[in-house]
Amino acid sequence: MSLQELLSAVAECRAAFARGCAEASEVRALEEVRVAFMGRKGQLAGLRAKITTLEGEERKHFGAAVNELQKFSQQQLNSRRRDLQRAAIEAKLREERADIDLPVIDRDERGTLHPVSLMRQKLHDIFTKLSFSVLEGPDVDYEDFNFNKLNIPAHHPARDMQDTFYLASKDEEERLLLRTHTSNVQVHALSEHRPPLRVISMGRCFRCDFDLTHTPMFHQIEGFVVDEAISFAHLKGTIDTFLRAIYGDGLRTRFRPSYFPFVEPGAEVDIGCVACDAQKLAAGKEPPPEARVGCRVCKHSGWLEVGGCGMIHPNVFEAMDIDSERYSGFAFGFGLDRMAMLYYGINDLRTLFAAPPEFNARLPIFA
Ligand SMILES: [Zn+2]
Repeated sequence: MSLQELLSAVAECRAAFARGCAEASEVRALEEVRVAFMGRKGQLAGLRAKITTLEGEERKHFGAAVNELQKFSQQQLNSRRRDLQRAAIEAKLREERADIDLPVIDRDERGTLHPVSLMRQKLHDIFTKLSFSVLEGPDVDYEDFNFNKLNIPAHHPARDMQDTFYLASKDEEERLLLRTHTSNVQVHALSEHRPPLRVISMGRCFRCDFDLTHTPMFHQIEGFVVDEAISFAHLKGTIDTFLRAIYGDGLRTRFRPSYFPFVEPGAEVDIGCVACDAQKLAAGKEPPPEARVGCRVCKHSGWLEVGGCGMIHPNVFEAMDIDSERYSGFAFGFGLDRMAMLYYGINDLRTLFAAPPEFNARLPIFA
């Protein structure tokens, strides 16, 4: 082979080696390239063997070219090997990175206040505008405050309707229980303050109930007014006003005579079914006063029961040393959960107090 041919073989070898290095995507592939070019039987060794076929200046010239190729190959190899090793370490680190964060909740999935809390805020706003004071009552109370002073003595059948959770206590006379209604606030307020009084109170209540429409813990709003010459008309006006403030001006209401031991007379309050009336309003028709269309929400009656009310029983006043000849008053109790369900269109009471399954699924401890 002439010097010219040998030199172009060196140039070809150099280009092929550079290409081989660049194409090797991992250290093992690079090692194969190294063996093929620089190994004992590799291309470089083949070229080196050709040195002895030349003489004098040509031999010197070609020898220098082979040495230069050797040096170039070694540098290429080292640099490519470093790059591949570094990339391999980085990939391994990425792969083995421990993710100690909880899954991120998307911004638009972030929670809001609970529907019952939102209803509570609405009622708070409405009643403070009507100059009611807002009082808190204890969740755990004496039997006396929850029952006796509200004209529900021991062995009264109404106690069975409000079967509750008693707390272990030493004193038989002063038994403690989880309150069955927010009406205990009436007793606390009337024993601490003298009339005139305008009060609402909202909070948790407890009864031994659990089905589609009852949970052992639920929320009520209690309201009462005590003053001279308070009549059933005041009661009706107040209830109509606050219900319409929530469900809209067109809301129908109905008062049905009923029995509660702590009022006389007593009534249950119904509102026109929000589901069927909404349909009719959407169709551009005013709901008639005795609409009888019905749907599943109202069990085809057109009406939904939302609370109870009445004129405070004279026995309740007497138990609090308030002159029942001089003062009269009204009281009402509504289910906050039910009001929130009707307002927000929720159909199963239990969903109000359970975490949504997709939320539990996101937490590793529930997976
Ligand atoms: Zn209906």
